[in-house]
Amino acid sequence: MLFDVERVRKDFPILNQRVHGNPLVYLDNAATSQKPRVVLEAMKRYYETVNSNVHRGVHYLSEQATADYEHARTKVQRFINAPHVHEVVFVRGTTEGINLVAQSYGRKNVEKGDEVLISGLEHHSNIVPWQILCDEKGARLRIVPINDSGEIVLEEYEKLLNNKTKIVSLGHVSNALGTVNPIKRMIATAHRFGIPVLIDGAQGVPHMKVDVQDLNADFYVFSGHKMFGPTGIGILYGKTEFLDAMPPFQGGGDMIKSVTFEKTVYNDLPYKFEAGTPNIEGAIGMGAAIDYLHEFDWNSVSAYEADLLSYATDSVSVVKKLRLVGTAAEKAGVLSFVIDGVHPHDVGTILDREGIAIRTGHHCAQPVMQRFGVPATARASFAFYNMKSEVDTLVKALYKVNEVFG
Ligand code: PMP
Repeated sequence: MLFDVERVRKDFPILNQRVHGNPLVYLDNAATSQKPRVVLEAMKRYYETVNSNVHRGVHYLSEQATADYEHARTKVQRFINAPHVHEVVFVRGTTEGINLVAQSYGRKNVEKGDEVLISGLEHHSNIVPWQILCDEKGARLRIVPINDSGEIVLEEYEKLLNNKTKIVSLGHVSNALGTVNPIKRMIATAHRFGIPVLIDGAQGVPHMKVDVQDLNADFYVFSGHKMFGPTGIGILYGKTEFLDAMPPFQGGGDMIKSVTFEKTVYNDLPYKFEAGTPNIEGAIGMGAAIDYLHEFDWNSVSAYEADLLSYATDSVSVVKKLRLVGTAAEKAGVLSFVIDGVHPHDVGTILDREGIAIRTGHHCAQPVMQRFGVPATARASFAFYNMKSEVDTLVKALYKVNEVFG
């Protein structure tokens, strides 16, 4: 079945507007994606008809809210093919999911002299939580280098794994460069050493079908707002054997079975990790986003996105003085570039006047910028509702940048 982008765009009300007098061209999807009407409606319906706290009341609304919240969890379970629904923990987003694992699994298992292994491609969210842990424990954060195309150097990865490595934490897809990492293979390699692996899937789930069993990931985290759902909600998937053995991350309501001043008995999974009133409407909105994504044939979505990215790569390459940053063989959704002699912020500002939204800066990946010797890049990032005609608008505006900066 062919992917019908015009039809898909009708599902996203925000796309149909003008910015500075021009049709909006939204190319900042790696920062956050837009939301289809069904997601917005599901959240509105929740507040208009169901709003109540979960897991607490015996009254009708509370039971309904609990059922909807738990139903959303089941949708996530199916979405990533998690073996058990209790392995799906609702968190605020990718950042909170990684912090949870660093603070809970990490604090329990990482000792002085141990090592935590990440790559040189990571988002700050997959660097700083591990730095905090390593600082606290006297452990060492080790970094797998990347090559000039922005790919992880696999031989170096293998060399860095050893019996001091307590966890490996890797991005699925780089938000700064778009590199798709060979995570299945990298997970298998770490497992040969008996080391668990966390995957930061923030940029994975919006672009590809993720199956945590096929990947054999021990933890997989992602954010609702980058996969056409709302902000403030995300998922930590973890294998039961790990989650069960981990201490709670935060204390409070819902994460306990019983409390006395002498002793607290923690709740079962996943509630042990869900202290306090959760983001109920966020979970419901995320469930609606998953229902929406289920309507698509992901083979045609992937083919459409790959074709769009390749078209965009070819199209921008003819712009004078433009240099792509990140030219990995496997990429998804991201085109990062610099134009010699022009600060990326100026590129962003000129594009904005044309109605084009891109991101400029370090993309919360400063070490990646350092690796490529640039302070910042301009980044156009795509979702399946973007079109080749929008790429043409982008290229025209980039010509304008060169005219302005002569
Ligand atoms: N990891 C990656 C690869 C990301 O792209 C992002 C968001 N830019 C994050 C982590 C953090 O996600 P969030 O801000 O939703 O917690």
